[in-house]
Amino acid sequence: MSETLPLCDARTDLKPIETLFLHQLPEPSHELVESSRCELQRKHAGVHISLAQASGPDSWWLVWAPGNAQLTARGQNMDRRLHKMDDCPATQDGDPDGGDECLLPARHAGAHSFEMESSGPRVPSAAARKKMLHALRESLDEDERTELEEMESLLASEGDPLPLITQSEALVVTTLLGQVAHDDWLMEDLVLRIVERMDTRLQSLAH
Ligand SMILES: [Zn+2]
Ligand SMILES: [Zn+2]
Repeated sequence: MSETLPLCDARTDLKPIETLFLHQLPEPSHELVESSRCELQRKHAGVHISLAQASGPDSWWLVWAPGNAQLTARGQNMDRRLHKMDDCPATQDGDPDGGDECLLPARHAGAHSFEMESSGPRVPSAAARKKMLHALRESLDEDERTELEEMESLLASEGDPLPLITQSEALVVTTLLGQVAHDDWLMEDLVLRIVERMDTRLQSLAH
């Protein structure tokens, strides 16, 4: 692994009008990030940029000027705007089939994204998660799928409550399960259903 280059430190918060605009985009790929960090290389030239939302095939970037500088768009001066931009075509090692793709827009300043430290994962939107979950299920081998379906049918059936664990153990279990759910999307749905049920029971105990 070659050394990764550092990212720009600039940050900005979404404005209410930008949030409104981004929320109405169809097929959002991830949850909105309230405080965005510039995704370009440290000490890059020109404006800062951060991916605000990917909507279907379109990538909407938040573009903001350093300091108090102004951007000019359609003859208007502004210090920031949301801009739909094409993807950078570069791939790692110049291999179009393998290697990581650059996640920045075309003609961006500085290094490609795969040469830099990660700007951090974004939380996929509910719709995107469903799509990925579906793709993951398709990729399972027969044994794995049978196991998953068995667990799903177990969850669907009524069972007798057992005096099995204490209230505080149940709290720890639900917390741990919740954390696991973030790492394994395939199990996420199952885990969230169990956690929700245990949460409901715990709350009814507390009353
Ligand atoms: Zn920047
Ligand atoms: Zn690039």
